[in-house]
Order: sequence, then C-alpha cells, then structure tokens
Amino acid sequence: MMTVQNPTILQHPTTIQACCPTCHHQGEFMLLGVQTWPKVVATKMGMPETIGTYQCEHCETTISEVDLSR
Ligand SMILES: [Zn+2]
Repeated sequence: MMTVQNPTILQHPTTIQACCPTCHHQGEFMLLGVQTWPKVVATKMGMPETIGTYQCEHCETTISEVDLSR
C-alpha cells in the first residue's frame, strides 16, 4: 500500500527545474510530498523506495520525480 508523507526526508529537493510533460512548460516543480513504497515493491519495479511527488507551477499537474527525470 502506498503512503504519502510530509517532505521531511530532504534527499528530495523542494523544487526541481524541468519540462512539464502535460503543458510542455519549462518551469519549476514544487515538492508536494514523498511516497514511500515497501522495499519488495520498489525492488520489483526497479524504483527507489522513496519518490518525491512534484507539482507543475504552470498547470498544477502532479508527477513523480521518476517521471520528471526521464
Ligand atoms: Zn505543467
């Protein structure tokens, strides 16, 4: 089960500069929270155990940092 926690784990930057896949706007994404996955699930999907969730400042789309870095 996926849980969303407050962004207290600061291995995730509070803002990321990236191009939004939804509105194609190059801008700033703000950290909304951190998803924590069980180690078994993370390993199976090839993802980190904690993933920051970010929001586009332009269209308010939320996206995970995994998708942003692609
Ligand atoms: Zn956007």
